[in-house]
Amino acid sequence: MHSIGALTTGAGSVTDLERLFEITRDVLGAPSLDSALTSLARGVHELFGWRFVTMVAAEEPDGELLRRVMLGYPADVIAQRLHERIDREAFDEMLQGAVRFFEDCYFFPAEEEAHWERSIYTGVNPNGAVRKYPSQWNERDALVLTLRDRDGIMIGYMSPDGPVSGEIPNAQTLRAMQVFVNLMGMALTNARSQSRLQYEATHDSLTGLPSRTVFSMELARALEAVQRGDHDPRAVLYLDLDEFKSINDTLGHLAGDDVLKEAAARLRTVVEDRFTVARMAGDEFAVLIGDATPERISDTLDIVHKALRHPYHIAGREIVMTASIGIAPVDSQYTSIAEVLRDADTAMYHAKGEGRNRSARFTPSMHQEALRRLSLRMHLRTAIEQQEFVVMYQPIVALADGSIRAVEALLRWNHPEQGYLTPASFLPLAEEMGLMIPVGRFVLQSACAELAKLQRIRRDRRIRMNVNLSVQEVLQPDLPGFLRELVDYFGIDPAQLSLEITETSILQSEMRAAGVLEQIRAVGVELCIDDFGTGYSSLRYIKSLPIDGFKIDQTFISDLNDVKSRQIVEMLVRLGDACDLDVTAEGIETATQAERLLALGCAYGQGLYFHAPLPAEMVTSLLS
Ligand code: C2E
Ligand code: MG
Ligand code: MG
Repeated sequence: MHSIGALTTGAGSVTDLERLFEITRDVLGAPSLDSALTSLARGVHELFGWRFVTMVAAEEPDGELLRRVMLGYPADVIAQRLHERIDREAFDEMLQGAVRFFEDCYFFPAEEEAHWERSIYTGVNPNGAVRKYPSQWNERDALVLTLRDRDGIMIGYMSPDGPVSGEIPNAQTLRAMQVFVNLMGMALTNARSQSRLQYEATHDSLTGLPSRTVFSMELARALEAVQRGDHDPRAVLYLDLDEFKSINDTLGHLAGDDVLKEAAARLRTVVEDRFTVARMAGDEFAVLIGDATPERISDTLDIVHKALRHPYHIAGREIVMTASIGIAPVDSQYTSIAEVLRDADTAMYHAKGEGRNRSARFTPSMHQEALRRLSLRMHLRTAIEQQEFVVMYQPIVALADGSIRAVEALLRWNHPEQGYLTPASFLPLAEEMGLMIPVGRFVLQSACAELAKLQRIRRDRRIRMNVNLSVQEVLQPDLPGFLRELVDYFGIDPAQLSLEITETSILQSEMRAAGVLEQIRAVGVELCIDDFGTGYSSLRYIKSLPIDGFKIDQTFISDLNDVKSRQIVEMLVRLGDACDLDVTAEGIETATQAERLLALGCAYGQGLYFHAPLPAEMVTSLLS
């Protein structure tokens, strides 16, 4: 090992120059920025006699990409530091500070923690006074030399620690070190662009997250470890944004991109640094977590759901986006990563089927479900032509006397093999496949035909029809036109038609929805909010949207034994009264529930206790 002064005495020794040549060659030929920085750090270590060297460099002047190499430190120190993300802001501050005060090299003596001192370099402190420092290096002293690229732009710094001599280097040695670092900075150019290329190949350009390839490699490594008998439990979380397609379709791809970027950033922020977060495809992300105890998994799920649920402010709008997450353990039963990913994906679809915005752990029974879904997907396109869709009608009654006041159209798919299917099992698929509009139009058309019939039966015409609308339908610009056609064609009273929309669908694209809703109202059709109380900011809609009523979500009704639920229902009923809105309670299954609701002042109700959803003929005869 050479002493610190080796390079500074005269022309330098031949061995030093040889070593310098070797280091330069290594840095120039390095396949990545990391390996170039490692060679450089080794050079500082050998030529100038420092035990520890830290190097930090950016791949691009303003890039997010900071690489850090640590040489000579004990393994545990390195392990700990390498998990810490390098903060771009702190990095910039450091470099700016260096330039502002000290040109290139600065020393941070432990005794004067408040100041960065240039004096060691120039022999003059910032006040102009000549200063003397103790010659012994203190453990807490710090020295930083800036690293510049070919054009003189600062790209990082080098910080050596623990001089072998035990002494603070003198000004001449520091200059020699700076010359060395400057030289190396130029040689780094090549490695930086290599590194950039490699980064681009392994990272998603939109979100900056690692790509599917990287995730697969990490997962393969995890699976191998498990198969070798490593007991650290690991799990894959597979995440898909709910109804993301409707954002792309209605607000455009740029807005969609912004949502993806924001969602990726939130994921990266809330998931622990040591776990891999990758973008797998379109709106799909995956997280590989280690140390995956049930508690850690559920904690991670909690924070991820919470972080993603916050409204997104995109292009002047507020958008709410949720995610469905599937979980698969990385266990030794799996023979390939494809199987792990398949199961996580299956669990994710299960979560979607259960109503989205939730997570599901994979269980083997989900395979059956996945096969069924596949077959549904294959048949869904032809189901309309084959006339396999049927609309059922569930009466909504006046709680006071049980008389039928309205019916709600509820779609069923009469599947040739699987029998009658409820919307939860196929509507999400229809949405995904872009079939929601034709399916929705079929329902609207059937319901209007039925309403015309019922209005003829009931001379007083006092029967109403409720039809559910999905987000994609609400956002169809020609929906008002279509409704007007239906009203004219069937000769129905539009005020007897009520469209049910959920809070989430309003929220998904508030501005545009508000416009469409006004136009729908202009046709004379009424609007009501479905599943009220489950959304994000229900009360706001009551004030801002042109609605005529709302339906209290089933969850409150099934919970009526609970004091809190009862109080909420009471509050909602009062709210309805105060705002002159119709209030309907959904999912009434027992006489007790019906009585309680009546006592709380709720006017209308719907549920199996009164009537199940019925075929059209039965409703007709019920009302005749
Ligand atoms: P929703 O609009 O809240 O409809 C009420 C759901 O509760 C219906 O489920 C109904 O069958 C069910 N239900 C009725 N009485 C009871 C009861 O006493 N207890 C319980 N637990 N449930 C009861 P369904 O038919 O499976 O529909 C589920 C959801 O699918 C609907 O919720 C609605 O959001 C959607 N949907 C149904 N038909 C259509 C449609 O034509 N278009 C669109 N876009 N969505 C639809
Ligand atoms: Mg409904
Ligand atoms: Mg509902």
